[in-house]
Amino acid sequence: MNEINAQKVNDFLKTRIGARFKTWLKICTHCGMCADTCHFYRANDKDPKMIPSYKVRFLLDILKKKGKVDKEYLDKVYSTVYHECNMCRRCTHYCPFGIDIALLISLLRAMLFDQNIAPEGLRKAIENYRQFGNQMAVTDEDWVDTIQWCEEETAEELVGLTIPIDKVGAKMLYTVNAREPMFYPQDMMEAAKIFYVAGEDYTYSSKPGWDDTNLAMFCGDVKTARTIVENTFKRADELEVQQVGVTE
Ligand code: SF4
Ligand code: SF4
Repeated sequence: MNEINAQKVNDFLKTRIGARFKTWLKICTHCGMCADTCHFYRANDKDPKMIPSYKVRFLLDILKKKGKVDKEYLDKVYSTVYHECNMCRRCTHYCPFGIDIALLISLLRAMLFDQNIAPEGLRKAIENYRQFGNQMAVTDEDWVDTIQWCEEETAEELVGLTIPIDKVGAKMLYTVNAREPMFYPQDMMEAAKIFYVAGEDYTYSSKPGWDDTNLAMFCGDVKTARTIVENTFKRADELEVQQVGVTE
């Protein structure tokens, strides 16, 4: 049974496939020069199905079908764009036309996301970003508690060490992967020691904008991806810092 909204699929792609994408799809000569640059191709005994240009064949096909594809078809797309390409862009550097396969794959991922199809882990992370401003669903309260706990623990080793939070006018807003407060606070402690010894003028933000991962980008959820970046810029602005330190 076709559970897919064909009109939505068609409209989504039609409005996003502009001149650049159309040109790329048209000028690809299927020369295969990109094949050997792809680690998936090489790791799969040079399986022709793993040639980068072949992986984006769905785009023209879906448009030709005016979006009339079924769930089974989209499962194949899913398998290709998530299990056969990690959007490293290596192939782009070797294509004589500079065709950006990763960007085309990203468009397919976005089309799937629009149909509510994405890996479970990414979907959960996106919910967390939307609700908590970070991928691990750390509350603002737990985040600040963790920083303070890191400060206490580290100050036992380096007397006088402090970890600044919301310091207006600091030189740098320091951001982390949300997995650090959740699973690896020792990384934050090590960073605090380095900053202390180096005399670095930095601050953490107590409010969203401190998680520098952007997993929404990987499934083409542009809206959430944009909000994540905006959160950081907003805090950098409010705290009047000169730089943002990104660990990811
Ligand atoms: S993407 Fe570029 S390198 Fe790869 S087959 Fe097409 S034209 Fe050749
Ligand atoms: S962008 Fe995708 S297709 Fe191109 S080399 Fe990387 S993994 Fe292979």
